[in-house]
Amino acid sequence: MTAFEKLAIVVGAIAFMEVFAWTVHKYVMHGWGWGWHRDHHEPHDHALERNDLYAVVFGSFVSAMFVTAWLNPQAAWSEPLWWTALGITCYGLIYAFIHDGLVHQRFFRWVPKRGYAKRLVQAHKLHHATIGKEGGVSFGFILAPDPQRLKAELKRQKAAGIATVRPAAVD
Ligand SMILES: [Zn+2]
Ligand SMILES: [Zn+2]
Repeated sequence: MTAFEKLAIVVGAIAFMEVFAWTVHKYVMHGWGWGWHRDHHEPHDHALERNDLYAVVFGSFVSAMFVTAWLNPQAAWSEPLWWTALGITCYGLIYAFIHDGLVHQRFFRWVPKRGYAKRLVQAHKLHHATIGKEGGVSFGFILAPDPQRLKAELKRQKAAGIATVRPAAVD
């Protein structure tokens, strides 16, 4: 494989994972998987959350991909699989940095004052503006929509009775 092909797989896997994460977050974690996600949306003072089990599950999948590629070096799909797993791992690291680091301050405390980093924090804070699993905005992690648009959508959901929105969030 050429360096360009490897890079294309890694970038493609990262883009795919953002779509995948958005879908899983909206339809699984806020659906039948709410039992594991719920404590991420409720105040607590524990170091770990049941929600972290999702990271364990996805981490296990990607580890299995690395091992499968490593055990089958002769197979034509071995190398692409390895680079796909690397792309997914990159997404996991970006996700951990943005979501657990920047937004929820589990590793460091740095509040971005401007630019896209600030927008990332705002967008995910607005994801946390709803109470319970219904409704909600901004289920992705790397793509941060305009906060004004998100607030307007929250107001619409509140008025339509789709979501319970924390009062301070949309004022
Ligand atoms: Zn959520
Ligand atoms: Zn969060």
